[in-house]
Amino acid sequence: MLDFSNARRRLVEDLIAEGILRSKNVIEAMLKVPREEFVTPEYKLSAYNDTPLPLLGDATISAPHMVAMLCEAVRPREGMKILEVGTGSGYQAAVCAEAIGRRGRVYTIEIEMPLVIYSAQNLERLGYAEVVEVYYGDGSLGLPERAPFDAIIVTAAASGVPEALQNQLAVGGRLVIPIEERGGQALYLYAKSERGLARERLAYVSFVRLKRGRKSSWL
Ligand code: SAH
Repeated sequence: MLDFSNARRRLVEDLIAEGILRSKNVIEAMLKVPREEFVTPEYKLSAYNDTPLPLLGDATISAPHMVAMLCEAVRPREGMKILEVGTGSGYQAAVCAEAIGRRGRVYTIEIEMPLVIYSAQNLERLGYAEVVEVYYGDGSLGLPERAPFDAIIVTAAASGVPEALQNQLAVGGRLVIPIEERGGQALYLYAKSERGLARERLAYVSFVRLKRGRKSSWL
C-alpha cells in the first residue's frame, strides 16, 4: 500500500507558503482529501505534483493550487450550499464538502456521462455521497430546483457568466468562473449584493472550455 500522506502534507505546506491556502477549514480539507483516489491509476504517483492531470477526453483534474484558489475564493463556511459546474473527477467537490462539513451540501453537474459515473463512484467510495450530489447535464443552466446557492464554482472556461448561474446565486453569495479573454483566460470572482454583481479579477488561468447545451443562455 502506497502512503501518500507525507506528499499531501508537503503540498499543503507549499500552498500555504505561496499564500494560496489561508483558511483553517480549507487547509484541513486539502489535508484530508486523498487526491490519489481521484486521478486515474496511471497518474497515481503524480497525484501530489501541483499540476492538472488528464481524466477522459479533454477533461482534467485541476492542479491542487487551482482547487485551493477556487475554494478559498468562495469562503466556504459550515453548512453552506455550493453548486459546482464541471465535476470531472469529483476532487474539487470533495474538498468543498470537507470545508463545509456534514450539514452543508455540494451539488455538482457534469456534462459527460462517463465522468458522472467516474466521479460519483469516487465520491461514494470515499464517503462523500451524503454531502455531495452529482448531476448529469449542462451546468450552465444551473440547478433551479436546488437554488439559491451560497457559492457557485465553475471549473470550465466560458465567454461570460451564464445568466442562470447569476440568477441562482443568493444575495451575499460568491461565484468564481474562468472567463475567456483575448489571448487567454482569467479567473473572476463575483460577489452578489442587493445592488447587483461586483467583480474582481483573481489570476490568469487555463481551463477546458465550458460546453454549451442547447438551451443555455449567456450574458
Ligand atoms: N472540477 C474538476 C475539474 C473539471 S475539468 C475536478 O476537480 O476534477 C472541467 C469539467 O467540466 C470536465 O469534466 C467537463 O466535461 C465539464 N464540463 C464542460 N462543460 C460543461 C457543462 N456545460 N456543464 C457541466 N460540465 C461541463
